[in-house]
Amino acid sequence: IYDVHIIGGGLAGSEAAWQLARRGIRVRLSEMRGTGQRSPAHQTDGLAELVCSNSFRSDDDEKNAVGLLHHEMRRCDSLIMAAAAKAQVPAGSALAVDRDVFSAEVEARLAALPSLDIGRERIDTLPEAGLTLVATGPLTAEALAGSIGRATGAESLAFFDAIAPIVYRETIDMDICWMASRWDKGETKDYINCPMDKDQYLAFHAGLIEGEKSVFKEWEANTPYFDGCMPIEVMAERGVDTLRFGPMKPVGLDNPRTGRWPYAVVQLRQDNKLGTLWNMVGFQTKLKHAEQVRLFRTIPGLEKAEFARLGGLHRNTFLNSPLLLDRQLRLKSAPHVRFAGQITGCEGYVESAAVGLMAGLMTAAQLRGLEWQSPPRTTALGALLSHITGDAEAESYQPMNVNFGLFPPLHDVKKKQRKEAYTARAKADIGAWVETLTTAA
Ligand code: FAD
Repeated sequence: IYDVHIIGGGLAGSEAAWQLARRGIRVRLSEMRGTGQRSPAHQTDGLAELVCSNSFRSDDDEKNAVGLLHHEMRRCDSLIMAAAAKAQVPAGSALAVDRDVFSAEVEARLAALPSLDIGRERIDTLPEAGLTLVATGPLTAEALAGSIGRATGAESLAFFDAIAPIVYRETIDMDICWMASRWDKGETKDYINCPMDKDQYLAFHAGLIEGEKSVFKEWEANTPYFDGCMPIEVMAERGVDTLRFGPMKPVGLDNPRTGRWPYAVVQLRQDNKLGTLWNMVGFQTKLKHAEQVRLFRTIPGLEKAEFARLGGLHRNTFLNSPLLLDRQLRLKSAPHVRFAGQITGCEGYVESAAVGLMAGLMTAAQLRGLEWQSPPRTTALGALLSHITGDAEAESYQPMNVNFGLFPPLHDVKKKQRKEAYTARAKADIGAWVETLTTAA
């Protein structure tokens, strides 16, 4: 017997389960992994698996919207933020984690909650009654996706998402590469940098354009890429210098062997606590696997690279939330069903977990007969929620990372000080709201 059924034990489902069960609410969490089934991107049976990058992006809560979201989630006692702190690996000003330590920590904390029951099972239809929270993510299993499609009467939108390769550290030639963060003054040396001269870069660029790509007939026709996750070869097609001004940007990276910035740089970021796995930053790709190995081994320092994982490309499914959901993330046509995570059309690990956090709190308030108060629109949580549940244009709704463009504007503040002004206002406003949670929910 339970009060809430959560479907999907990813970032959003785990966070929602935590927010509910730690308030003593009886929760059933159903996760299909662990039954021999996985989405095309998941590789483990662990809860809250990070399917691609190991980064929660910037942890700067003064000038960055996602850093501010970290701050606000910590104030709400977020499970995902607590587990990230435990699993943190060095990544400059970003919050990056060892993905296995992170997932194990999420699972351990959830398993310790007496009112939470975790079932390894796949759910194929939307339950007809009972409070339900659907957090099955961008790769929702087919039967359930069909059931959601029938309930919403709307076609699910889809776009491409790409993942980047991971390299074994011991196979990187450190006589060619060096450790440094951009513009570092010697204190932080978090990235491995592979330098390229002009000829090497031009040959690499040509290789990307000519390389054989995987074909995804199922979704190929007119499915757009999400800008933050564009495959490297698609970026290369935009112009010969696009990569040099993007993920292969050399500025601020003095090569200690020459004392100068190279023509272009490939950066790798630590992916696990042991420091044995390194992620190629911005190198998500749909090149065929053999082609990836051949081409990426032309990168200076990666001639003998061995890959723990190669890049790939996947579908992303999400609801037209501004049209279909009410302000509390409930399906207008079936209000016992609430949605959370990327399926609502937010984008990113942190945003998905944040929407899971809010969905958990909304459900808790509903169960206790309390009136739900949304976080102020001036906060990152409130701005994200408002966007998803009504402020975005339904006709052109696209997945969205948190950003200052979602916040009520501060036109009177000079542009240079605006980011700090947004975060200062949000931090001032979130406090009173958090108070209402601890006392009421
Ligand atoms: P998920 O974390 O995917 O969780 C959904 C869970 O539901 C899964 O555990 C799944 O097994 C389970 N499930 C699905 N269907 C059923 C069912 N019928 N019954 C029971 N369980 C079910 N974001 C970033 O910030 N950085 C990245 O680098 C990044 N890379 C991505 C790469 C790919 C290929 C994809 C698809 C997405 C990527 N994202 C990335 C976007 C997004 O942030 C993640 O997908 C994030 O995990 C979404 O969180 P979620 O909780 O909504 O879904």
